[in-house]
Amino acid sequence: MTTQQHIRAALIDMDGTLYNSMPNHAKAWMRLMNEKGLQATEEEFFLYEGMTGAAIIDKMIRRTLGREATEAEKKDFYALKAKYFVEMPPVSLIDGAVDMVADLRRRGIDTILVTGSGQNSLLSRLEVDFPGVFPAEKRVTSASVKRGKPFPDPYLRGLELAGVNACEAIAIDNAPLGVASGRAADILTVGVVTGPIPAHELYAGGAHVVYHSMRECADFLPGLLDKIETITH
Ligand code: MG
Repeated sequence: MTTQQHIRAALIDMDGTLYNSMPNHAKAWMRLMNEKGLQATEEEFFLYEGMTGAAIIDKMIRRTLGREATEAEKKDFYALKAKYFVEMPPVSLIDGAVDMVADLRRRGIDTILVTGSGQNSLLSRLEVDFPGVFPAEKRVTSASVKRGKPFPDPYLRGLELAGVNACEAIAIDNAPLGVASGRAADILTVGVVTGPIPAHELYAGGAHVVYHSMRECADFLPGLLDKIETITH
């Protein structure tokens, strides 16, 4: 990591970080897999979190059928999966997410959404749950980049949208591939455990710091940011 500077932007993941949406995503994926006769287990979708839908579909088709997914399959299967996700009960906010974001905003830190998702049902809820925090021009979604997490591209695009250097940003993500993406973009990366994936998987993915819940992150991130301020001034 380059020399840390004053933090001007926080690049924040959506699924499993702001919303407790991963269980529904995993169930929607499994419904699709079963319907299409593709081998998978529900648990593994937690590990693929952050990958684009197209990349996941390609992985599953390669595994079961031994060939690449066609562009039509990537598009049609993902549309079906998104439909199944919408049919499930609404997801709740992750406890602590609102407070975590509010503290960043109070400090004058710009907030950018960096998600691998293209799930409009959830993206459209952001303005309701986080008013003014993630306007359309401050969102990196599956439509913004070709290569999703764990490639650095989504977080690099987030830096561009914020207009800051990597040393002026912080990345917050709950998934191993997500923290790997933040780390690959050379950003100070905070991992947060919000589901079945344990802390050591987030450290193994490259997180510099790991909190054991979003509530813990909301409570202790301010102290970390204060320390960075002290060091850089
Ligand atoms: Mg996530």
